[in-house]
Amino acid sequence: MSPPYPASAELPEALLAFRLPVEPRYRDDAAGLPGAEPRAVLAPRTVADCVCILRGLQAAGLRAVVQGGRTGLSGGARVRPGEIVLSTERLVETPVIDPIAGTLTAGAGTVLETAQVAAREAGFFLAADLGARGSATLGGMAATNAGGPLAVRYGTFRQQVLGLEAVLADGTVIRRMGGLAKDNSGLDLAQMLVGSEGTLGVITHVVLRLHPAPIARRVAFCALASVAAAIRLLPILRAGLGPSLQACELIVDPLLSEACAARGLRYPFSSPTPAALLIEIAELGSNEGERLEAVLGQALAEERISDAVLSASEAECLKLWSLREGCSHYLIDNAGPITSLDLSLPIAAIAGFLPEAEAICAGRARPLVFGHLGDGNLHYILAGKPDHSLVGDVFALTARHGGVITAEHGIGQDKVDWLPLCRSGDEIEAMTRLKATFDPGWILNDGRVFTRSREKL
Ligand SMILES: Cc1cc2nc3c(=O)[nH]c(=O)nc-3n(C[C@H](O)[C@H](O)[C@H](O)COP(=O)(O)OP(=O)(O)OC[C@H]3O[C@@H](n4cnc5c(N)ncnc54)[C@H](O)[C@@H]3O)c2cc1C
Repeated sequence: MSPPYPASAELPEALLAFRLPVEPRYRDDAAGLPGAEPRAVLAPRTVADCVCILRGLQAAGLRAVVQGGRTGLSGGARVRPGEIVLSTERLVETPVIDPIAGTLTAGAGTVLETAQVAAREAGFFLAADLGARGSATLGGMAATNAGGPLAVRYGTFRQQVLGLEAVLADGTVIRRMGGLAKDNSGLDLAQMLVGSEGTLGVITHVVLRLHPAPIARRVAFCALASVAAAIRLLPILRAGLGPSLQACELIVDPLLSEACAARGLRYPFSSPTPAALLIEIAELGSNEGERLEAVLGQALAEERISDAVLSASEAECLKLWSLREGCSHYLIDNAGPITSLDLSLPIAAIAGFLPEAEAICAGRARPLVFGHLGDGNLHYILAGKPDHSLVGDVFALTARHGGVITAEHGIGQDKVDWLPLCRSGDEIEAMTRLKATFDPGWILNDGRVFTRSREKL
């Protein structure tokens, strides 16, 4: 139940024009915990609207949370009691492609899939993808520095952002929209907004880097004897496939068998495999497909992999990807209560980390594991009742192995308690000072990322 609004909940007159009906969907994100009912939902259409809203909130001492597609998995967009929602859903002008610069410019509320299609129709490739492509927004992806399978080849969303426009919480407009590949004129305020999870300002527009469109892609699904065998295969794939390698996704047993059974998918191998690796390459016009066949043939001959299924068409690529994405859907829809951890580890540490983590989980939760192996990014899912102390134990183990508690999804509200495991007190203090400079009234996304919130100042 949401708490009653305080008496000062009246919205300033200047903000009434931006209101949308308060619907239940605005309460939370995809992390699965219930949010409060927002005091109001405000949706700017332009950067000037956004300035007006933020100045109005500042003057009235009201707090807001920024929302894009609400697909976040750390509770960043989930509403806290007394907050107003600032939604980017009206910042959605048609994406503009500059074919000479190779850039795409779009409003922050533009959905990823819309931008992908616009890039493809113009003969380019937007090197960002994730399972929530039909709802996640470009602004949200910039704010969380989203990763996804393509990051192994193209880097995270930060590497795709050539420029952006944002309104800082105090109403200052940052406008770095020139799309320049090189710009060393002072501090890079645009990149400072990337990964800031809405704590510093509202991103209103982005300029993204585009890449040459591949002619086609090919996908292989490989069976391996262990996670350690998958890790040993990585340098062989990198050396053999070069820059055409653009995804390298690990699924640890029993997740694949369970997902196939629950979602009616055909298990790709003749018998259950301890670890499976989905490999995707882009065909750019040379002999990438033949190289993939040769590398896999050699790996089979050397018994580095025990089985492999190779796509022969785009339809087969989609079918193999449906096995990987089926694991995410299985976890969200069929696996019962889960806590989704998104760990970043040195790749070489993963094989040692997994048995230790399993021992920690014994009798407390059932771990289900998949992830972006090429980036050392494990989606470590705890199936069972939420257990705060277990999460802390797995995070502490991650830190002991040289990792951090989030690779992609961010700190949001749900991991604030554990930020000190991977950031020093001095670093957190420096972040808090930055926050106070950009948001002196502490009105935006309070209680996200920083261990110190306005209430504790
Ligand atoms: C099925 C599924 C698969 C996913 N796969 C991946 C994956 O592979 N890789 C990955 O990185 N993530 C993944 N995610 C998580 C999620 O899609 C990303 O975090 C995404 O970037 C969030 O975008 P959004 O628009 O939904 O942001 P929201 O959830 O609305 O917000 C996320 C955070 O960003 C802030 N924010 C949003 N828009 C703005 C803005 N314009 N300006 C300032 N702050 C803003 C919010 O306040 C919040 O703190 C997945 C989620 C689902 C449900």
